[in-house]
Amino acid sequence: MTTTPSFEQHCIEPACRSRYDLTEPIYVCPRCAGLLDITWTHAPPHDNYTLRALWRARTTSQAARDRSGVWRFRELLPFARDVSIVSLNEGNTPLYDATRCAAYCQIDSLQLKHQGANPTGSFKDTGMTVAVTQARVLGARLVACASTGNTAASLAAYAARANIACAIMVPTGQVSHAKLAQALDYGAKVLEIDGNFDSCMREIRELSEDGLIYLVNSINPFRIEGQKTVAFELAEQLGWNVPDHLVVPGGNLGNSSAFGKGFRELFALGLIKRMPRISVVQAVGAAPFASYFSEFIQRPDEATFVDEPHPHTLASAIKIGAPVSWPKAFRAVYETGGQVLTVSEQEIADAKAIIGSDGIGCEPASATTVAGIKKLSSAGEIRADETVVAVLTGHLLKDTDYVNKYHTNSLVDDDGQAIVDRYGNPPLRISGGRDQLRDVLARLAM
Ligand SMILES: [Zn+2]
Repeated sequence: MTTTPSFEQHCIEPACRSRYDLTEPIYVCPRCAGLLDITWTHAPPHDNYTLRALWRARTTSQAARDRSGVWRFRELLPFARDVSIVSLNEGNTPLYDATRCAAYCQIDSLQLKHQGANPTGSFKDTGMTVAVTQARVLGARLVACASTGNTAASLAAYAARANIACAIMVPTGQVSHAKLAQALDYGAKVLEIDGNFDSCMREIRELSEDGLIYLVNSINPFRIEGQKTVAFELAEQLGWNVPDHLVVPGGNLGNSSAFGKGFRELFALGLIKRMPRISVVQAVGAAPFASYFSEFIQRPDEATFVDEPHPHTLASAIKIGAPVSWPKAFRAVYETGGQVLTVSEQEIADAKAIIGSDGIGCEPASATTVAGIKKLSSAGEIRADETVVAVLTGHLLKDTDYVNKYHTNSLVDDDGQAIVDRYGNPPLRISGGRDQLRDVLARLAM
């Protein structure tokens, strides 16, 4: 049992299918510009019973590579056994029952997989530990990304751990203070660019072509390798079953791509018996993938993907008009029979408050999931007795400005439209002394 699976980079375009060595620092296929997948040329040399036992046993180990919720699944990661990993003990995130959310969506139960419980407060960490480890393998001197904030915070932290210089491009004035603060504190050089996320992404992709930087946006297939382990962890938490529906927010679409790949690998190995339906929810003002999907369903031969030149939503983490990973996300949704839908700014804000009322905090983008599940349930696309898991991508404290404004009825969307505080919980000013205070407390205790 000494053989290890070998991996390669593989162009996903059916007409091309070119293969490349793992050590080639490429992000798309040099021949056809298609996206790259990392695939194994032969499966791990363990039976499924052994794999499950091995992965579970590592959760009680004290070794860094066992404690990490990403690296404890290393039999399915494209690295040598003795690779020097860059880890912050990411992954192993909670799966919560959310009863108020379930009632809100009119379904029997709903579980929330909270990726905001990662070290830098977002799902990005599971991918970043792998991408920055690969940067170290390649001997990169400078890692870089374009970011709406969460990638910046995550890359800055992992680059600091790896002692590799780090540059981050963000759209000026469009990143939450909390996310920017993280990147600054971890010592990354933050470069503010006029324009939006998509223009930052275009710039940095062109600059990555001459090899000066190692690019770690989700177009980098190693990021997806890390994020796919969330599917393994979720299946394990559910006793090696999958939910009927898995619902994720849609921005740059790395999440849906990674979940699709993770579950596909488990299915190929026989570790799960079926695939969950993977659905993606976008904010209505930043929904190029939803537009494409609905066009494809109606006219598959004529559908073309059109970028949204002016994406707008208060859910800044998914304010993206030109998502680079869309072909992989499409594969994940289409192959599993999922949906792509949009929700309004009001629906996102309300769903976020409902998630909060379950004692679970998230950033606005994450709340698209619960808003989307409510819609799918009303439309009969999700039955009340089906099992549903929503993926929350970022922590509540990533964007407190939004939360305070919602609860004090002063939240206004990008179009100047006021968001109504339907589930608002404003603070109460006590100016009437001890009597008023006792009154208020007595009412609360009833
Ligand atoms: Zn190709």
